Amino acid sequence: MKGKSFFIDTSKCTACRGCQVACKQWNMNPATKTYQRGTFQNPEDLNFSTFKLVRFNELFENNSVKWYFFADQCRHCVEPPCKFTADSLGSKAITRDEATGAVLYNPKVKVKEADFKAIRESCPWDIPRWNKKTQRIAKCTMCIDRVKEGLLPACVKTCPTGTMNFGDQNVMLEMAQNRLKEVKSVYPKAQILNADFVRTIFLVIDDPQKYHKFAKTVDSEVITRIANSKKLIQLAG
Ligand code: SF4
Ligand code: SF4
Repeated sequence: MKGKSFFIDTSKCTACRGCQVACKQWNMNPATKTYQRGTFQNPEDLNFSTFKLVRFNELFENNSVKWYFFADQCRHCVEPPCKFTADSLGSKAITRDEATGAVLYNPKVKVKEADFKAIRESCPWDIPRWNKKTQRIAKCTMCIDRVKEGLLPACVKTCPTGTMNFGDQNVMLEMAQNRLKEVKSVYPKAQILNADFVRTIFLVIDDPQKYHKFAKTVDSEVITRIANSKKLIQLAG
């Protein structure tokens, strides 16, 4: 597989949220109004102007509180169901950059609510968001404007712990596999998530469900979503 990838090593994440802030800043996205919900996670979810969100899941285990940090963002799927679904609807709202593999939204294209619903439902990781007022889709862009100039994505550049990494796909996959070998002896449940299908490769050290409902999708479900979204194109054609 050619192109670029992220490697997100959650075992090194301290939830400083530097990546989340850098993403807002680089994309000039406005702040989201937040309120105290009894958690340090803010905002509550990804949204039209929040492409990167450090999720904080707090679990009470063995008489102590354990935190699971998950720096969520678009997986830049190798075969993106969101794009295939948009294509089947005759919409040019989602494109793919061939050189990097980045899956991009087109900010000039309006998308009807029903079409957005179908696009979001096709995403195995529940990523795309939509603005009712502007009728536009938004999500992580892989910082394609920076990457094309030879710069790192803003979230990667700012990360002080080595959690966020970016580079050629084979290099990132090798980095993930090497790190997995390192942490496995201490954390037997450590695993890499859905690496065959995505360009945002997460490593977790415990059950993925403890981090986030959509942290990992069963591989067969990903294959089904890809197949279904491609079938829609055939039906439309
Ligand atoms: S790659 Fe860019 S757009 Fe995507 S999460 Fe990182 S900073 Fe945000
Ligand atoms: S993670 Fe979801 S939004 Fe991102 S490319 Fe894959 S299907 Fe599309």
